Amino acid sequence: MAASLSDYEKLMAGCIRCSNCKFIPALQIKSQRFSAICPAIERYNFHAYSGGGKTIIAQAMLKNRIQYTEELLKVIYRCTACGGCDIACKFFFELEPLEVILELRNHCVESGAGPLPQHKKYIESVKLNHNPYGENHEERLSWLPKNTSFKEGSETAYFVGCTTSYRRKEIAQATTKIFDKVDLDYTLLGSEEFCCGSPLIRVGDRKDALELMRKNVEKLKNLGIKRIVTSCAGCYSMFKVEYPRYLNTNFQVIHTSELLDNMLKEGKLELSKEVPLKVTYHDPCHLGRNSEPYTPWQGQMVKVVSRIYIPVPPKVIRRGTNGVYEPPRNVLRSIPGLELVEMERIKEYAYCCGAGGGVKSAFPDFALWTASNRVEEAKATGAEALVSCCPFCATNLKDAIREKGEKMKFYDLTELVLKSMGGSI
Ligand code: SF4
Ligand code: SF4
Repeated sequence: MAASLSDYEKLMAGCIRCSNCKFIPALQIKSQRFSAICPAIERYNFHAYSGGGKTIIAQAMLKNRIQYTEELLKVIYRCTACGGCDIACKFFFELEPLEVILELRNHCVESGAGPLPQHKKYIESVKLNHNPYGENHEERLSWLPKNTSFKEGSETAYFVGCTTSYRRKEIAQATTKIFDKVDLDYTLLGSEEFCCGSPLIRVGDRKDALELMRKNVEKLKNLGIKRIVTSCAGCYSMFKVEYPRYLNTNFQVIHTSELLDNMLKEGKLELSKEVPLKVTYHDPCHLGRNSEPYTPWQGQMVKVVSRIYIPVPPKVIRRGTNGVYEPPRNVLRSIPGLELVEMERIKEYAYCCGAGGGVKSAFPDFALWTASNRVEEAKATGAEALVSCCPFCATNLKDAIREKGEKMKFYDLTELVLKSMGGSI
């Protein structure tokens, strides 16, 4: 059900401006160098950029105390919608800064002030080409290796996603090669696959995102799809979290890392070839802390003291603890010869790659700056390679590695699995 800023009024009133949403919780901090959780506040160092700061902006907007200006739009959109603030705040309080940020962006779009020109450009492309990259829809399967044995009519669809289809083809190729080697019963949607809606909803264009989501659901249901496998953390959180939040859907949604982990446990996947590599793993925000489903809640915010309200009946709070954290790590640990070492900020307290929330298109310098911080953290582990499970993270982290002239390699999990199966792209 769609909300509005006023639905968050009592929740927002409880923000005590403590700034806990800027850092990972104190007990989790291992060094000052890697203690921040909010890339926006770390880069711009002004309270308005934090989750709490944007909560104050949203309250002021609700009370008509401020208006959208060019500067204010920069503050609102220089934010990767990573949810770090949301999880850090909930360590102490029960506020939902990420919900407020997304609602503020929706308000911004509904008021005609947002999103930014770069976002409008890719939204037009999604409407025209069904992908945000301005690419030809007919080319969506241009990555497909010859003799891939997907089966039309299967109830399991590999939803490749726009970024994997057009920008990170090696992930789609590795994934289908693995599927073929284990003889998985799956289908590809090909020209029937349109953008999942993630790039729209994260910048506040909920109206267009919902229209797209409705069409996607109708198509998937007509094709008889019951299970959706994704390579992309953004697609995953859309189908797992946002679609059921707004629409009536009950697809089983699974990320490739979960599928591979399940297959290993069931003895259907054998990793026998040595991959002698020391790696560290980056948790994508939308596969980790932002992948917990919403539990519908109806009730009242009841005042307990001053500006503090509590939900009655109690709400199920999304704390990020049940994200997809262990499956990719289990798979990595199963690869012979590979050593996994951890960064300081991991799982629900992972630092963002910097690409999300429309930042990569509107503020590419900020996106690269954040990714460079993450690469520094990866380097501090002594790892030779950075591994992740999302084509959008992959693109930004690879850009930072290249820009910095680093020796560090980057792999998607599927590329390493394929290597260990004796295959190659
Ligand atoms: S959003 Fe939460 S953590 Fe941030 S300043 Fe407000 S109360 Fe503190
Ligand atoms: S969503 Fe991420 S970037 Fe945006 S304010 Fe929260 S922690 Fe900062």
